[in-house]
Amino acid sequence: MALKLYNTLTRKKQVFKPIIEGKVGFYSCGPTVYNYAHIGNFRQFLLNDILKRSLSFLGYKVTHVMNITDVDDKTLRGSVKEGISLKDFTRKYEKIFFEDTDSLNILKPTNTLRATESINEMIKLIKILIDKGYAYKASDGIYFSIDKFKNYGKLANLQRDRKTKERVSNDEYDKENAQDFALWKFYTPEDGEVFWETELGKGRPGWHIECSAMSMKVLGETLDIHTGAIDLIFPHHTNEIAQSEAATGKKFVNYWVHGGFLNMKEGKMSKSLGNVYTLKDIVGMGFKPLDYRFMCLLTHYRSSLEFSLDNLTAAKKGLEGLKNKIANISLSQLGSDGEKYLKDFTKSIEDDMNMPKAVQVLQKLLKDEKVSGKAKLSIIEKMDSVFGLDLLKKEKVSVPEEVRKLAEERWQAKKIKNFKLSDELRDKITKLGFSVADSNEGYEVRKI
Ligand SMILES: [Zn+2]
Repeated sequence: MALKLYNTLTRKKQVFKPIIEGKVGFYSCGPTVYNYAHIGNFRQFLLNDILKRSLSFLGYKVTHVMNITDVDDKTLRGSVKEGISLKDFTRKYEKIFFEDTDSLNILKPTNTLRATESINEMIKLIKILIDKGYAYKASDGIYFSIDKFKNYGKLANLQRDRKTKERVSNDEYDKENAQDFALWKFYTPEDGEVFWETELGKGRPGWHIECSAMSMKVLGETLDIHTGAIDLIFPHHTNEIAQSEAATGKKFVNYWVHGGFLNMKEGKMSKSLGNVYTLKDIVGMGFKPLDYRFMCLLTHYRSSLEFSLDNLTAAKKGLEGLKNKIANISLSQLGSDGEKYLKDFTKSIEDDMNMPKAVQVLQKLLKDEKVSGKAKLSIIEKMDSVFGLDLLKKEKVSVPEEVRKLAEERWQAKKIKNFKLSDELRDKITKLGFSVADSNEGYEVRKI
């Protein structure tokens, strides 16, 4: 079997074929750095991470590119409100974003590009669109004409007639079609100190052009994979396709992978609805970032996931249970190699990254007493290269003095082969909630 991915463009699971064998170039829309990202945002970044880790697990060499939106209406407004420069303002939230993703074990993109540092590429792209007749100048900026692009809206399954019939609203009086979007926004006094003097005029880029310019800058004109949350399908990704394909005449993206929402009971988690939790919030409630990561793994990435503290608590307990079982695996060499489990795990990954199924495979492996402890640990290490849950990392256990003493007495008893006494002492240790694992070098006390 080979990797199958659900492609939004065809609305089917398709066998993944990269442009260059063995290599994958993928792009994901990054954060707008104007505030703390909420855990709903992080569900999407976790999808990127799972995709990247899955591809690496399957043997691909992955180049992952992500943008940082560090200039737009929100970042401009935020920096004015805080009275600091746009750069200082956005760098602050960019730093927080990466601290958060680090704590979630999200691997850093191969290339992270800031919008403000890729203006030249955007200008170049806009100029091509003007030259080819896809873009035009209006009073407040340069716009992309969606009527000129034949396949506009294919990704979102838009009915083109309906779109073009919508009337031009008053405040956008000189746009040719109300759906036309800004590639370049001319300077207004609200932009303060933030502008670029360019041959397109004084101003700043629109949001959509960023992703086309930055993805193609690193990955070339056609990308293997582009990811994003489902609410980006329209207009953002629809516009990315239009402007990129209009400029290059080539297919922009072969596989579009979109992740489902994180919902609250009352609907989508979003800043505008005021029902958001940040990672800091849930850590403040006694959860670990990896509890949230595990919670996300338990639902397929395309399904919507309902967030509640009950769900998060269940995930926390589930992860603790797994880690405990793993910590108590004996290092026996006896038993089978458990190859079947690694195969089943690989199959689940290949099936559109079915992580809930992959977790079940891990649970079955832990229960199987026929597999040797050594083989189990080696398989779990491979699985965790995708899960990213630190399954083999030992938690620092604080062992009470009483238990420590009993463990030492037991070790001495064992040394002089007084097994009756050592068994009695082991029982006492167990009653206190701890276990002892012996190896050639000595013993280790673990929490049960
Ligand atoms: Zn984007």
